[in-house]
Amino acid sequence: MDATGLSNFKGRAKPNFAKKAGVDLEMIYVASPNFSDKASEEKDKFKYIIIHHTATSRMQDEDGNFVSLKVLTDPNSQNPVSAHYLILREINGESKIVILVDDDKKAWHAGVSKWLHDNNLNNYSIGIEINNDGITELFSDAQMASLVALLSCLKKVYEINPFNILGHAEIAPNRKIDPSDYFDWKILADYGIAYFPFNEGNSNILCKIGDQGKIVENIQNLLQLWGYRYFDVDGVFDERTKLVIESFQRKYAPYEYRNDELRGCWTHNDDVKMQELLTARKDYYNGDLKIEVNFEKIKNNPMNEFFHPHEEILIAMNINIHDEL
Ligand SMILES: [Zn+2]
Repeated sequence: MDATGLSNFKGRAKPNFAKKAGVDLEMIYVASPNFSDKASEEKDKFKYIIIHHTATSRMQDEDGNFVSLKVLTDPNSQNPVSAHYLILREINGESKIVILVDDDKKAWHAGVSKWLHDNNLNNYSIGIEINNDGITELFSDAQMASLVALLSCLKKVYEINPFNILGHAEIAPNRKIDPSDYFDWKILADYGIAYFPFNEGNSNILCKIGDQGKIVENIQNLLQLWGYRYFDVDGVFDERTKLVIESFQRKYAPYEYRNDELRGCWTHNDDVKMQELLTARKDYYNGDLKIEVNFEKIKNNPMNEFFHPHEEILIAMNINIHDEL
């Protein structure tokens, strides 16, 4: 076995979607049996990309096996799971991307989930797991570089709406917290993959658990309009409303999430960010806001040595990399 243990995995793939995006992106192929088939008309249709952390504290066990690869490929566990992709922790400055399930199959990553008018998001989504302990571990530059490279290709080729790149905790806020508050969503916005609100309000609490009435109902309406489910719009700030707000803060206001006094309370800052998000999404649908993958910036990130856009393919696809600067 080599120092990384990765020689166990022979398959290497340069996936078609990356080629279609004009990118030479090498991955490791480790087939997981934990998937189901999709109806043929659904095979190439993806509405969402869902980001997860594996919640594993070690990458390899004593025998050099990759812990999360074992979990994500084990058909005999009580609750077999998988994802389409896994981004490993950094080895020698690089975070390898593993393909577990082909895009046209249904990987089992989201579980019971809802967003806007969609249920069971495994039916419409691509799932990406990232090795991380889910508690205090930062997501490394190498992991984020691999994720950005992967997302940029998936988003471009499958024409994923930048507002539909979500964390598991957003589609299942009652039972999931991934990815953790250390996942920096701003980075995805920096590369034109997603949107992140830049306006900031103060941390005055507008509403908290136990409160009731019109103001609570208004906030619940905003949360529902944005896409969250698993709570009632009834003017009662209950535990379920709090969990949804924690999900919102974990992504958009991690400072508040880490503050015991503010976590799960609706602050002025949350309100400002929510208003900006709703406006931005509306502008995007109206065509007034453009969000385009910035391939040139991705290529120029020194962490992305393995990401090689082929200019001639970009031109053939009518993607002008210079326009996206
Ligand atoms: Zn998850």
